[in-house]
Amino acid sequence: MAQASEQVTAGAQSARDFFYIGGEWAKPATDKRFNLVNAATEEGLGSVPEGVEADMDRAVAAARHAFDHSGWAQTSGPERAAIMNRFADELEKRAPQIAPTVSSQNGMPISLASQFEAGFPILMLRYYAGLAEGLQDEEERTSPIGQQAIVRRTPIGVVAGIVPWNFPATLAMSKIGPAMAAGCTLVLKPSPGTALDWYFVAEAAEEAGVPPGVINWVPGDRAAGAHLVAHPGVDKVAFTGSTAAGRKVAQVCGEALRPVTLELGGKSAGIVLDDADLDATIPGLQFASLLNNGQACLASTRILAPRSRYDEVVDALADMARGLSVGDPMDESTQVGPMASAEHRDRVLGYVEKGKQEARCVAGGGRPGKLDKGWFVEPTIFANLDNNATIAREEIFGPVLVVIPYDDDEDAIRIANDSEYGLGGSVWSADHDRALNMARRVETGSIGVNGYNISIGSPFGGIKSSGIGREFSQETLAGFQQMKSIYL
Ligand code: NAD
Repeated sequence: MAQASEQVTAGAQSARDFFYIGGEWAKPATDKRFNLVNAATEEGLGSVPEGVEADMDRAVAAARHAFDHSGWAQTSGPERAAIMNRFADELEKRAPQIAPTVSSQNGMPISLASQFEAGFPILMLRYYAGLAEGLQDEEERTSPIGQQAIVRRTPIGVVAGIVPWNFPATLAMSKIGPAMAAGCTLVLKPSPGTALDWYFVAEAAEEAGVPPGVINWVPGDRAAGAHLVAHPGVDKVAFTGSTAAGRKVAQVCGEALRPVTLELGGKSAGIVLDDADLDATIPGLQFASLLNNGQACLASTRILAPRSRYDEVVDALADMARGLSVGDPMDESTQVGPMASAEHRDRVLGYVEKGKQEARCVAGGGRPGKLDKGWFVEPTIFANLDNNATIAREEIFGPVLVVIPYDDDEDAIRIANDSEYGLGGSVWSADHDRALNMARRVETGSIGVNGYNISIGSPFGGIKSSGIGREFSQETLAGFQQMKSIYL
């Protein structure tokens, strides 16, 4: 096992001067490079080539060729499933490298990276392989007046997958899994901030015998991403990122009438009901609201607390925030690591300063004094504000929570729904049924009852400015397929 790990590391490292296009480690069109920096130490992690338009063109051509001519789109579901399961096996061998590579780039605590970035993509691949096994290309249907038809499903074509830096491997696999299961080919564009981890995934795909051109990787900046989205050789765009970028992607896809799924930002509500047991609630809420140092789209970052217990909830959250272990993301005991970049740290601190004008800062409020290196922000709690404050309305994407008081359950629902976003959320109560009924009324794509745990078997995605379409679950496959009715 150790030896295999060393070998795969060496392979991925020697590949770092190339992209993966058409089943080959392909030479970049230019000598432009991205420099990667360790979020905790600010030391260099090395550099990788930066994809430009010409590289994207080659990747789309390879994906196009594989889709149109390689026979991949015509393989049976079980044949694709066998390749996907081998891919998952190869990924499992590389899991020990993937988790620390992600953590060093974006500051994700290693305990979370091992669970998500190293573990979840494997689970996803196997899940989608299972769906591919059971795929039926054609289904016979009879209408209410007896007309016979065949409904035929075919893969949609070449998919452009664009992902951010916060969960790079997991989010890439949320595109790769359903696309492969459906018989599509892909061009994946990792974010410049996390341009190291995909080498392990690409190497696993190659080793597993994923046919040439089925998945192509080219990291690039926004301009390279925009070129990919607008490329005439692309049939569908699967985008995860900010709402601002999502709107631009949607405009381009709208003009081209190109199918697009958009997984965007959030500002979700964590509703603490008046009967909640805070000893049980606070640890769960910590995970749901501060996951990945708060760099999570689905985090419950607006905590709604009953006015009758407001001070008690604020104090409990402030104690929790002060007690978190902030530091080296490679340390298993670390709960909060650094922000992914200096620029992002400054953006989060800008919101903290804004918050000090709008609310009362009861915990944190700056950079941790004991850490002189790394892009850290203290876990920060703001109280005594209402839902109209900027820090209550805009996505901060850092370890910053606001605690907003409400009068009764109706008021809690009103405040929860008074948001431009609708992605995640959570309800906390000693009474499961009461919490469940509240959860039913929150306008959002997903919500947890006394916890928030994403499930691969259930659709995940947003409403309002949090996006269009869903990922995970069997429902996702339809977004990677075309349907044709043949009337008999
Ligand atoms: P971002 O929008 O700046 O970038 C995301 C990706 O899109 C990057 O790869 C970037 O290079 C690319 N990109 C940016 N502009 C583009 C354009 N016009 N055309 C094509 N590609 C473009 O976001 P980020 O800062 O990398 O990530 C954080 C954001 O992602 C947050 O808003 C977060 O909520 C969101 N996010 C959403 C989900 C979800 O599932 N809903 C998951 C994770 C992150």
